[in-house]
Parts: sequence; C-alpha cells; structure tokens
Amino acid sequence: MAFRIKKFSGRSQRTTLILLTLIATALIAGSISVIRYRQTTSPVQTINYSEAYAIAETGAAASVLVENDSLIVKRSDGTVSKTTVTGEAFRQTIVELFRKNGVPVEFASTQPTLIATVFIYSWPVLVVLLLGLVGWRVHATVNGRGGSFSLADHSGKQGATFADVAGVDEAKAELSETIEFLRDPIRFGRLGGRAPRGILLYGPPGTGKTLLARAAAGEAGVPFLSVSGSSFQEKFAGVGAARARRLFARARKLSPCIIFIDEIDALGRQRGRGNDSGSADQDQTLNQLLIEMDGFDQSSSIVVIGSTNRPDVLDQALTRPGRFDREIMVNLADLRGREAILKVHARNIPLDDELDLNWIARGTPGFSGADLANLLNEAAIAATRDDSDSVARTHIEIARDRILMGAAREGFMMDEDERYATAVHEAGHVAVGLAVKNGDPIHKVSILPRGRALGVTQSLPERDRLMKKREYLEDQIAVLLGGRAAEQVVLDTMTAGASNDIERAVEIARKMVGEFGMSPLGPIYLGDSQSEYQSQSLLDRADDASNQIINAQLVRAREVVTSQQNSIARLVKLLLERDTVEADDIRHCFESPLALSA
Ligand code: ADP
Ligand code: ZN
Repeated sequence: MAFRIKKFSGRSQRTTLILLTLIATALIAGSISVIRYRQTTSPVQTINYSEAYAIAETGAAASVLVENDSLIVKRSDGTVSKTTVTGEAFRQTIVELFRKNGVPVEFASTQPTLIATVFIYSWPVLVVLLLGLVGWRVHATVNGRGGSFSLADHSGKQGATFADVAGVDEAKAELSETIEFLRDPIRFGRLGGRAPRGILLYGPPGTGKTLLARAAAGEAGVPFLSVSGSSFQEKFAGVGAARARRLFARARKLSPCIIFIDEIDALGRQRGRGNDSGSADQDQTLNQLLIEMDGFDQSSSIVVIGSTNRPDVLDQALTRPGRFDREIMVNLADLRGREAILKVHARNIPLDDELDLNWIARGTPGFSGADLANLLNEAAIAATRDDSDSVARTHIEIARDRILMGAAREGFMMDEDERYATAVHEAGHVAVGLAVKNGDPIHKVSILPRGRALGVTQSLPERDRLMKKREYLEDQIAVLLGGRAAEQVVLDTMTAGASNDIERAVEIARKMVGEFGMSPLGPIYLGDSQSEYQSQSLLDRADDASNQIINAQLVRAREVVTSQQNSIARLVKLLLERDTVEADDIRHCFESPLALSA
C-alpha cells in the first residue's frame, strides 16, 4: 500500500514537537556558524604579490588555495597569508611556481554551490515554516484533535504479524476467520460466512492482546486504528460520543480495517450507575459505540476488537449478538508458550551458548509475555554493563531478581539492629515456606533492601497452577505470616515491615470467603461489592470468617517458627554475613539437626 497516514498519538506527538524544535534550533545554529566561518576565515595576514612570489620561489608553503583572484597560502607553521592577484597571467605564473616547488595547489570557487546558496538564503523561511508547524501541532493538541487516536498503516514500523506473537495459538486460530473476512470481504460473504463485527479479547495485562490485534491487521493487510477506552473519558457530556462518531467515520473511509479499543471497560462499564456528569458522558459514549456497531451493514468491512482484563464489569448490551459477540480468552502462557515467546524476543539478542531458553521458561512461571520481553531486555542491559558480548545465565538471574524483587537500593544502609530484625523476619518466611506441604519452592532469600521492601524471600512455583486448592491458599497465607510470626517468637516484638505481607494475606483470605466459597458461610459471592443483594450482616460475617482464616494461619506459622528456632538462627547468621542466601545453603541450614546453641 503506497499511502501512509499517521495521526500522532499523545506520545509520538510530543516526540514530534521536540524533534521539530530541535531541527529548527539546529538550522539556526548551523546558519549562524556558516556566516561566522565565512567572517573568521577571511581576516588573515594580507601580503602583496612580490611577497607571495618569494614564498613560491622558496617553496616554503604547505598548501595553496586559489579562490577566484585570491591566493591563500598556508605555511607549515599554520600561518595563513592571502594575496590578491587580479591579472590572470600573473596568477598563472605564481601558481606554476608553487607547483614546480612541490606545493600542492587547490582551486576553489567563492561562488557558493547551488545547494549552499539555496540553504543560506532560505533558512529564515524554513525556520518560520517549522515554527509554524510546531504551533499548529500544539494548537491541535489543545483542541483535542491531534491525540485522540492513532492510526498505523500495516506497512509501517508498527506492523506486526502472527510470527511476532507466541504462546497464544488458540487466540490466533480464533482470529483467523476475521483475517479471512478482512482480506476479501466480498468473497467471504459469498461463501456464506457471517461477518465478525466485534471481538472481545480478555485476559491479564501484558499477555499480548494489543499485539494480537495489531498482528491480525498485519496478517490481513489492513489499516489498524487504535484507541484507548480511557481516552473517551471526558468531563463534559457528549465529547466522548462525538469522538467515537469521528473514529467510526474515519474507519469507514479506510475500510476494510480494524478498530482496536484498549481498556474497553473504561467506556463499556454497566450504564446508569453514577449520577455525575462523567458517568453520563460515559453512557453516551457507550450508546454511540453501540449505534455505530449496529449500523454496520453487510458491506462495511470494519472489525472492532476490544480488549479488557475485566470482562465481568462490561455492560451486557456490549456482548449481545451483532456486537462484541465473540470472546477470546488470552491467558498467561504455559511453559511451552513461555519458551516460544522468549524465542520471539531473543531474535535480536546474542545469547551465550550455555543459555537455554527452556531453562529460562522453567524459572519464570506466572510471567506474562510483557514480563518475558522485559526480562530479556533487562538481561541484555546487564550483559552490556558487564562488557560481555552475549547474554548469559547470570544476566538472566540479575534481570529476574530485578523484576521479581525490584531494583537493589544501593547506598541505603540499615543499622545492625534493623538488619538483624529483617533477617529474622525473612528467615520466618523461609521456615514456614519449607514446612508447609503445598508451598512453592524457596529460591533465595535476601536482606538487601530493594524497592520498598527491606528484605525478600523469593519462591517460584515449580509448575503453572491452574487450580488453586484450599490447602495451597492456606499455606500461602501461613508463609506470608511467617515473617510476623518470627518477629513475635524470636524478637518478642512486631515491626511495620510486615504490613505488605498482611495486606496480601488478607486479600487471599477474603477471596477464599467471598469468591471461592471456602468458609463456613458456604458458597457466597461478594466479588462485586456494589450488588444490592448483600446484606450488612452477611458482609460482617464474611469479615469474621476471613479474620478467622488469618488468625488460624498465624497460629500455624508461630508453631513452625517455634519448632525451628535453631535452623532460623543458622539462617539469620548466614544472612547477616552474606546478605543473600541461595536455595542450597538454605536447605543446609534447615537440614543439619545439630543445634547452634554455642
Ligand atoms: P496486553 O495488550 O495484553 O496488555 P501487549 O500486547 O500490550 O499486552 O503486550 C506488551 C508487549 O509484551 C508486546 O508488545 C510484546 O513485546 C510482549 N508480549 C506480550 N505477549 C506476547 C506474546 N504472546 N508473544 C510475544 N510477545 C508478547
Ligand atoms: Zn515479609
């Protein structure tokens, strides 16, 4: 496709502004320096003809430049002299003399070349034009015309194909019919296919939903119009709806094409909840979207792909037949999928011979496609920092630690008491983690402050857990509370450092009660807290039930810590020595039965 239309999205618009300003500045600076250069090079020592002749005779020059009727003589000591010889014959003679005495002679013209002339005389015009362009862009942004959506022709850089998306084969297969349709809408209709209108991609963030939609456009060879649902959120009623109308008008011009609406939940939430003007506008936007989609006839070949990680909050009108009636789940990839995703992203990264992508995939359960891309990127940065020319295991380890635990805070010093308390807290997590039956293996433990945490215990599930049993959830809560338990048992105090652990533990317990029905209250569902069916008394009892789960697990964790005090003391000692202790040494601390009570 020859044409290329590109609206500037918010980010690229800013980049363009900066770029234009830079170019304008460079032009001005360049022109000024050209003028300066012309001025500073001319005032050199002026000599007369006979002086120049004398130099020519002795050959005491490094080079000679003939510029129309001037001779510019450069001596070996760097001084420059200039003489003007109007007579053609005289000039000829002196040039010959220089030549004869071995001085290289160059001819130049003071007449600037055509390009230089055009440049010098037109730079003010260029600058004015560029500034005008900058002003226009700013104006467009302020008026909201520029940044509302971006359109990328598939032939552009943003173009992607299915080869760029891995580990989501089912979703790809489901999209293949859509691609057929977009490639040849008429043939598709003749064969009796029902044109797909709206497709909902749902799943956790970073699993490649955007990438899939873009790749579908790439595969079909059609333009890709991308908007974010949140960009329709406006204070004033009607603005979002007008924006939606413009978007579809544009799409009709470009069809066949794909409209991609990221975070469609931002505009597609159930209508009529709030009374403020913001939600009234949202309702209007959603209505407009539905009107546009209902208006598709057999001939309009536009496919709308929406993406969300909260399909449950969407207005039911959105998912009715003829609208987003096809739902495709895009889930976190399994082991094989992760390896395939890594392969895609490792295409341009030199890997060490020892480094096996399968090994990385095994060590990254729960990582999304975006996490894996990030992992390889961070590893490449670590390798560059090491001056190594390929990415090795150690770089992957560094990158994974960074992603799982946050960046190490260098220069942050804890005093000895704090380090000791942190070591005890982390050793508590480890002790409980090793004692529970359904825990994830402990990978390493560290008391190096990272991010907001003072210490971390890293455990990695050894396989992808699709089914989370009650015992697994309870064990997770116990491990989370292991830190607090150790504070109470070993230090006889409590620290505020456990607050994040507690938050996560409470979250799990609440889900067990209110979503998974794993409490004496039976199968109740409190997931959507706005439901009118929930009585205050049920909510109170649910709170009690989750508190009970938490307290029971804290008791368990304290029992483990009390019985493992010696092992904990050994691990604490190692942690204070080394900051970080790996799986093998951890096991060692907890295996040797001899007490360290010396
Ligand atoms: P989502 O829209 O689901 O939040 P994105 O499509 O924005 O996720 O993914 C962000 C980035 O992560 C992609 O641009 C790509 O680099 C990488 N990525 C995510 N999923 C995959 C995948 N399945 N295969 C290859 N790369 C992926
Ligand atoms: Zn903790």
